Amino acid sequence: MQFGGRKKKISTIPQSELYGQHLQFYGQPPLENISLSEFETFAAERLKLLKTVENLGVSHVKLTDPYRRKLESQLKALNFPYRPDADDKKSQSGPIEYEKRRKDHISHFILRLAYCQTEDLRRWFIQQEVDLFRFHFTELVPKQQLAFLHKNNLHYDTISSEEKTALKDQLINSSFGVSGIKVMEHEFYKVPFQDALDLVRLRKVYLKQGYAYIPHQDIVTIVLNDFRTRLSKALALTARSLPAVHSDERLQPLLNHLSHAYVGQDYSIQKNVGKISLDQIDSLSGKSFPLCMRQLHQSLRENHHLRHGGRMQYGLFLKGIGLSLEQALQFWKMEFIRGKVDADKFDKAYAYSIRHMFGKEGKRTDYTPYSCMKVILSNPPSQGDHHGCPFRHSDPELLKQKLQVYKVSPSGINQILELVKGMHYQLACQKYFELTHNIEDSSFSLNHPNQYFLESQKLLGGGKDIKREMDAPQRSQENSASKGSTGTQEVAANTSQHLAEMTEDLESFFQEA
Ligand code: SF4
Repeated sequence: MQFGGRKKKISTIPQSELYGQHLQFYGQPPLENISLSEFETFAAERLKLLKTVENLGVSHVKLTDPYRRKLESQLKALNFPYRPDADDKKSQSGPIEYEKRRKDHISHFILRLAYCQTEDLRRWFIQQEVDLFRFHFTELVPKQQLAFLHKNNLHYDTISSEEKTALKDQLINSSFGVSGIKVMEHEFYKVPFQDALDLVRLRKVYLKQGYAYIPHQDIVTIVLNDFRTRLSKALALTARSLPAVHSDERLQPLLNHLSHAYVGQDYSIQKNVGKISLDQIDSLSGKSFPLCMRQLHQSLRENHHLRHGGRMQYGLFLKGIGLSLEQALQFWKMEFIRGKVDADKFDKAYAYSIRHMFGKEGKRTDYTPYSCMKVILSNPPSQGDHHGCPFRHSDPELLKQKLQVYKVSPSGINQILELVKGMHYQLACQKYFELTHNIEDSSFSLNHPNQYFLESQKLLGGGKDIKREMDAPQRSQENSASKGSTGTQEVAANTSQHLAEMTEDLESFFQEA
C-alpha cells in the first residue's frame, strides 16, 4: 500500500478481476495510493464492524438468523460488501460494489498494521476476522464456495456422483449427521488429510489413501483453519516490518491511535460542568460508575492517595462526568491532605498537573477521558496500582470477591467470569451493568467508562440533561476524516498532537512527586 495526498491508482489489474468476488482471502496487499483521510476513515469503519462482530458473537449464537440479520444490517450501514447474490445483480458488480470491496480489502490491511503489534491485539483481530469470514463464506451457495476455493488456490475438489455411489456406505458411517439421501444430494470434498486434522481428530470424516472426504457443511472448518493460519503468519510478518512503518511519521500516530481506538463519542468536551456536586460522588460511584472507576474511587477514599496511573484514569473520567477545574482541585486536595500530603505539598506537586489536565497549563490541551480500549490495552497496573480494567487486569478470584462484595448474584458472577474467560472484557462489564441496574438487555455497546456513566444516569432518571448536552460532539478522528483529502496534513497534525497528548506530555506532569 502506498500513501499520499492524492488518489492515484497504479494497479494495472482490471477492476472486475481485482475484486471479482465479494469475499476475499486477502492474499495480496493493496497497491494503490490512498489519502491519509481515507486511510483513517476506512480503518475506523472496519473497527466498528469488528466490534459489532465481537458483540454479536457473544450475545447471539453464531450464524443464527438474528445474528445474520444484525451483522448484515451493520455491513450495509457501514458500506461493506454483504451479500453474494442479491436480486439486483447489477448492484453486485457495478462501481458501488467495487468501492465496497476495495474498502473491505484496504481496511483489512490497515488494521493488520495496527493490530499486529502485541499478542493481545493479534488474537482479538484474528478472532473477529475469522468470524466475519465465516459469516461471508457460509452465505455462499456451494457452487460459489467451490469457485472461491479454486480462485484462492485451495484445490479441494468435489467428488463425482459415481464415486459417491461407490463410497455411499463408508461416507454415511464415517460422516457426522449424514444420511443416505444427504450423501447423494450434497457435495463431498476430497481434501489431503493433513489439511483436515481437526475433523480427523474428531473422527468426523471418511479417510482413504491420504484423503479426507468432507461433507459440504464441514468444508467451512477447513477453510477457516486455512484463513486463520494465513492471517496469523501474515500478522507475524507484518509485525517484523513495523519498525519501517513506524519510521513514517504520518503513519505511526495513526496506527498507535487505532490500536487503542475507540470509535464513538468524545467525552472530553465538558458541557455538563458543575451539574454534579462533590457530595454526590460517593453515592454516584456505587450506582453509576463502572467497576474500574468504582475501584479507583474506593482506593482513593481508603488510602487518600492514588498513583499517577490511577490519577490520570480517574481524574479524566471525573472531568468527563462534569467536575469543573475548581471542583477537581478541591476534590483531590481534600482527599490527599487526609493522608500523607499536606496542603502546601499538594499545591506544589499536584495542583499543576490537575490544571494541566483541564488544559490550563502547558500546551493547553483539553485531555480526553480514557476509552475502554485504552484502559484495557495500555499501561497495565503493577503492584500498588489501582488503575486498569478489573475485568482485564484482576485475578479472576479477586474479581469474584469484588463482585460478591458489590452484591452481584452468584449466577451473575458466573456469567461475568465466563465472559472474562473468553476475553470479552467490555461485554463482561456490560453484563455487570445489566445486573447492577436490574435490566435484561442494556441495548448499547460499551466502549467508554463515561458512556457507562451516562447510560446509567439515563436509566436511573438522573442524566437527561447531561445526555442531551453530550450528544453533539463526536470524535475529532471522525470529523477530520470527513474533511476529505484536502485536510490530510491537518489530520496528520491533529493525530500527532493527539498521540503526543496520550503518551508524553500529560504523563510527565503526573509523575510521582
Ligand atoms: Fe472500565 Fe471499560 Fe473495563 Fe468497564 S470495560 S471496567 S468501563 S475499562
